[in-house]
Amino acid sequence: MKEKIWLSSPHMGGAEVKYVQEAFETNWISPVGPHIGAFETSLATYNDIPYCAALSSGTAAIHLALILLGVKQGDEVICSTFTFSGSCNPIAYQGAVPVFVDSERLTWNMDPVLLEEAIVDRQKKTGRKPKAIIAVHLYGMPAQIEAIMNVARRYEIPVIEDAAEALGSTYQGKKLGTFGDMGIYSFNGNKIITTSGGGALVARNEGWIQHAKFLATQARDPAPHYEHSHIGFNYRLSNVCAGIGRGQMEILPTRIEQKRKIYAYYNNELKNFPGIEFLPEPEGAFSNRWLTTVLLDEKITGFAPETLRLALDAENAESRPLWKPMHLQPIFKDCPAYSNGVSEELFRQGLCLPSGTNTTEEQFLHVIDTIKRQWVTNVSVR
Ligand SMILES: *Cc1c(COP(=O)(O)O)cnc(C)c1O
Repeated sequence: MKEKIWLSSPHMGGAEVKYVQEAFETNWISPVGPHIGAFETSLATYNDIPYCAALSSGTAAIHLALILLGVKQGDEVICSTFTFSGSCNPIAYQGAVPVFVDSERLTWNMDPVLLEEAIVDRQKKTGRKPKAIIAVHLYGMPAQIEAIMNVARRYEIPVIEDAAEALGSTYQGKKLGTFGDMGIYSFNGNKIITTSGGGALVARNEGWIQHAKFLATQARDPAPHYEHSHIGFNYRLSNVCAGIGRGQMEILPTRIEQKRKIYAYYNNELKNFPGIEFLPEPEGAFSNRWLTTVLLDEKITGFAPETLRLALDAENAESRPLWKPMHLQPIFKDCPAYSNGVSEELFRQGLCLPSGTNTTEEQFLHVIDTIKRQWVTNVSVR
């Protein structure tokens, strides 16, 4: 196969160009302009939450959320260990300390029981409560968010929901990103919808979102000249990127349908191959299936995820290991971590399969054939 099969690449719907052209024609090329408000409104409406700030990235959204919650130097912030570094880097931006909590096996996301143990232990060791909790929904799969919120409420610790990968996913019919005190989304190039780069912060608290917009535009106090009483950031989404976002919002439901079909296709083709395990939706959970992921039991299949990754790569198909847990990362290795082995096992056994919505049927057939060939070859050898 000549053409590259991507893990998940940008997929425009068609209307994006119209909105971008409008931005050019009206010369709203800056981080000001009508697309920004319209994009925020469409995100807020879609997620059924009143307030939204469109920002330059999901990471920026988490950073501002931490600032709004008053996270400062020396504070501790709990974060899922099984995640992308964008979830926890902003904790370090604030001079605060990440405390990592491991996953449960059902959803691969933060274990609510371990979360409580971590809170109790931090209180015992430091005499203080962690200042915030960053709970992540990986690959679109809802975490046990009600249980996490119950623990958080019991200890009165605010929750930032990292729904960067989970726009459109729901738990008990309610959109992810709207359970926590604040929620964030990412519109980076490979996410389910993209603005080329971008993110958003959502909340029910109007004051927070107003203040986030103020901080994101260099914290300019009302005055004819430039007056500053806060440290500001250049974190606003541009009007051009918001135009792309408006177009992408129109096809988001279609993309979710397509992503779910991709998962169903892999699952259907491979479910009878022992040693290949999928991540089913637990009761009440609806996943946008951003990426289809599998676990490979090397003892049964005879091959490790890396073997399959290389085999796919030889066919010009991109796959990727699951996120390497943050507590194993050299930069975070000295941070407190509450681990139970789950995220390490997932990292060892897991692989993200090509899940692009603009991948052709023929390309998917080729990917499936490659996986089946690996399986048949290795299992029969044993
Ligand atoms: C992508 C991602 C982020 C960061 O979003 P950016 O827009 O890339 O800054 C944060 N958390 C998770 C889980 C992500 O996948």
